[in-house]
Amino acid sequence: MLIIMRLDASRKEIDTVKEKISSFGFTPHEIPGVQRVAIGITGNKGKVDSENFLTLPGVVEVISVTKPFKLVSRDFKPESTIIDVGGASFGGEELNVIAGPCSVESRAQILEIAQIVKEAGARFLRGGAFKPRTSPYAFQGLKLEGLEYLKEAAETTGLKVVTEVKDTETLSLVAEHSDVLQIGARNMYNFSLLERVGELDKPVVLKRGLSATIEELLMAAEYILSKGNYKVILCERGIRTFETYTRNTLDLNAVPVIKKLSHLPIIVDPSHGTGAWDLVSPLALAAIVAGADGLMIEVHSHPEKAMSDGFQSLKPETFHRLMNRLKEISTIVGRRI
Ligand code: PEP
Ligand code: MN
Repeated sequence: MLIIMRLDASRKEIDTVKEKISSFGFTPHEIPGVQRVAIGITGNKGKVDSENFLTLPGVVEVISVTKPFKLVSRDFKPESTIIDVGGASFGGEELNVIAGPCSVESRAQILEIAQIVKEAGARFLRGGAFKPRTSPYAFQGLKLEGLEYLKEAAETTGLKVVTEVKDTETLSLVAEHSDVLQIGARNMYNFSLLERVGELDKPVVLKRGLSATIEELLMAAEYILSKGNYKVILCERGIRTFETYTRNTLDLNAVPVIKKLSHLPIIVDPSHGTGAWDLVSPLALAAIVAGADGLMIEVHSHPEKAMSDGFQSLKPETFHRLMNRLKEISTIVGRRI
């Protein structure tokens, strides 16, 4: 349910509506907008009688929202959400690239790659310190040490850190060392983790699960928003299909579909989406043309020696070339890097 207020509704009128919603045991969510002021209702099991609100001063309309996702939907908020991370943003005209190695492997490695991606034009540095690996015997990440190296690399270059949070136990540690929290594909269904990041005031990149539908991705985002954190950047990173030539099938359909259904920004990760370095650039360009708000790309100075995902990592010169192509393409589609 969505209550639309007059654009010039007073603070008192808005608060009265919110109090009334709370008095029913439901949760009010004020959704500021340019075209209208809206108050979303969540927590109700069935239909709420609109008469309860239509009589209150300042209320123009009461709309029932039939989609399972509410706060993330464009029905609730028609304008696209722009998420600002210290002066760099996702969801507006600006396009941002999150680049770096799959894993932080050493201090020297991350400092070197940070410099490379910065020079190429990226404003966000990625690198996993807590790695969710398929095999328990594979490299699990440098953990706290890795977070410290990431932070140092970000401080020396002015880049912002995006790193994965694997569980609720390490959440506060990861949050202290990062600008954006990444929830990986394997954790998209970890509802306790989604709720906990929902309680923080920190941007989140939420990756689509390996076999999640678009609706399930949006519902996972809804968990985060329902706890009060509206800064969610969705990420298409490929899904499992019958096709085995590529690691995953990058579902670029998801980009315009999500743009239609949700006001949240959507970025694309062609590295995990294809699993092959030589497919990353064409799919990165295609993602931008399809309307993506940014990209996540794995870059490594020596992919052959990488401790994870080397085969899909771009070498510095290839990344540099891709960034130049992205700059050209972005102006054609009315965006800028
Ligand atoms: C990663 O970004 O390195 C990663 C593990 O991604 P995903 O969760 O999409 O597999
Ligand atoms: Mn990876």
